[in-house]
Amino acid sequence: MNTQNTTPIRNAARTIDELRTRVQGEVILPGDESYETTRHGANLLYNRFPSVIVRASRSEDVAETVTFARANGIPFSVRCGGHSVGGFSVVDGAVLIDLAGMTGVEIDPVRQVAKVQGGARSYDLAIPAHEHGLALSTGDTGTVGLGGLVTGGGVGWFVRKYGIAADRLLSAKLVLADGSVVTASALQNSDLFWAIRGGGGNFGVIVEFEFKLVPVKHVYGGAIILPATRDVVRGYLEYSATAPDELTTMATITHAPPAPFIPEERLGERVLILLAAWIGDAADGPQAMAPLRALAEPIADTVETVPYPVMFQYMQFAEAPHGGRVKMMFTNEVPDETIDGWIAAVDNAPSPMAGIHLRGLGGQLARIPADSNAFVHRDKKYFVSVLGLWDETVTDEAPHVAWADETWERMKHLSEGVYVNFIGDEGEGRVREAYAKGAYERLAQVKAKYDPDNVFRFNQNVRPATPDSQRKAA
Ligand SMILES: Cc1cc2nc3c(=O)[nH]c(=O)nc-3n(C[C@H](O)[C@H](O)[C@H](O)COP(=O)(O)OP(=O)(O)OC[C@H]3O[C@@H](n4cnc5c(N)ncnc54)[C@H](O)[C@@H]3O)c2cc1C
Repeated sequence: MNTQNTTPIRNAARTIDELRTRVQGEVILPGDESYETTRHGANLLYNRFPSVIVRASRSEDVAETVTFARANGIPFSVRCGGHSVGGFSVVDGAVLIDLAGMTGVEIDPVRQVAKVQGGARSYDLAIPAHEHGLALSTGDTGTVGLGGLVTGGGVGWFVRKYGIAADRLLSAKLVLADGSVVTASALQNSDLFWAIRGGGGNFGVIVEFEFKLVPVKHVYGGAIILPATRDVVRGYLEYSATAPDELTTMATITHAPPAPFIPEERLGERVLILLAAWIGDAADGPQAMAPLRALAEPIADTVETVPYPVMFQYMQFAEAPHGGRVKMMFTNEVPDETIDGWIAAVDNAPSPMAGIHLRGLGGQLARIPADSNAFVHRDKKYFVSVLGLWDETVTDEAPHVAWADETWERMKHLSEGVYVNFIGDEGEGRVREAYAKGAYERLAQVKAKYDPDNVFRFNQNVRPATPDSQRKAA
C-alpha cells in the first residue's frame, strides 16, 4: 500500500483477554454492567446488540481493535456521536469501536487551528473554541459527532459563508484497515484526503482531525416562529438562498413545541420554526433578518446577539433519545403544490415532532469547486428533508415510518441529489446519487487502495473498484 507514515501491522490480539491487556480503554461484553447503557445509538429506530464494545481511549486502542476484529473474522462498526440516520454505527454481532472516550480538543489561537480527537461531538469543539473567539461551522445539534458529520460533509451554521465543515479540514490521522496509522492532508496521501471529506467512514477510523477555524465568537441568531402558510414558506425559500453569505438559516414546518419562548396558547399550532445565524457585523443583523421577520407577524422571535454555542440550545430535544425516519433531497425548484403537500403532510403527521426541514444553500458553498472533495452537490439551492420523528413514549413506530416514506414518495421526483449524512439504509442507488459527477468511481478507486476487502462497510458503502467495474465505468 502506498501510504506515508505507515506503522507496521502488529500481531493481532486473538482473545478478549489478550485484547484487554493491549487496550487502555474499557472492553465491554454482553452481561457487563455498562453494556446496556453503552450499546445504544441515538436513534430509537435501531435496537442492536454488538458482540463486544471497545471504548477506545487512544489511537492504539482503535488499531488493536481493528486488527483483533479482522484476525477473528468479526465485522466491526465505528461510533462517534451515535446519530447515524441509517443506524450504521451499531451492528448486531459486530465489534463496536466506540470513540466516546476520545473527545480531547486543543486550540492554537494564533494559528486558529484545532486538533480534535476522533470521538468529539460538535459542542466538544464549539465550547473551547468559543473561549478564543473561534468556531467551526458544524450542524445544528451539539451531540452530533464530528466523526460522522465531517466525514460525510457537515452542513452547518455558517455553510453559506465558509462551506461545509470538511472544507475546513487541514489534515486527519486515520487507522486504516490493516491497523496502520496514516496522515491524510493536501500533501500526504492526498487521494485519501479528498475521499474522507464527504466520502463517509469508508476509508478508516479518523482518530484526530486538524481544522482551520473561523473567527466567529457571537452570532446574531435565534428562532423566528412564523405561521406556516404557503406564502411564508415560499418567502423563506426565496430569501434563504439569496441572502448575504453571512446569513445561514434552517426552517422546519412542524407543530409549535413546548418551549419557553412560545406562547402557551400557540402550542401545537402548525408553524415554520426558522433558525437563523448572522455572522456579519452585529449592527447589520437586524437588516439581514428583516425580510424573514416581514414574512408574517412572528409568533415568537428570540433573535439577538448570543455566543455561538447558544445556537445548539434550539435542538436540545434532538439530543434526547428519540426515533427518526429521515429522507432527504437537494433540489433547485419547489412548486407551490409541493409546499401545499408538505403543509398537508404535517397536518396529518402521527407525531407533533414530525416535520419538513428546509435549508437555503448557495453563497460560498456553491463557489468552492465541486471536485475539491467528495461532497459534490454544491450548486443546489435547497436542502429538503422529511423528518419522521417521535419521542420515547411511542411503542409502535410503524405509522411514523410510513408517514415519512409516504411523504417522501410524493416529493422524490424533485430530487437532484442527496447528502450521505441524511439518508438511511436506502441502497446503492442513493449512495451513487450522493456521489454524482464521477465522485463514486473516484471514491471506489481510493477504497480499492486503502480498504480493498471493504472491512469499513457499515456506512453509505462505496464498493472497492475492481478491474471489471473500472472497465464498465470507462
Ligand atoms: C439530530 C440530528 C441533527 C443533525 N444535524 C445535522 C446538521 O445540521 N448538519 C449535517 O451536516 N448533518 C446533520 N445530521 C446528520 C449527521 O451529520 C449524521 O447523522 C452523522 O453521520 C452523525 O455523526 P455521528 O458521529 O453522531 O454518528 P455515528 O452514528 O457515531 O457515526 C455515523 C457513521 O460515521 C462514521 N464515523 C463516525 N465516526 C468516525 C470516525 N471518527 N472516523 C471515521 N468514520 C467515522 C461511521 O461510518 C459511522 O457509522 C444530523 C443528524 C441528527 C440525527
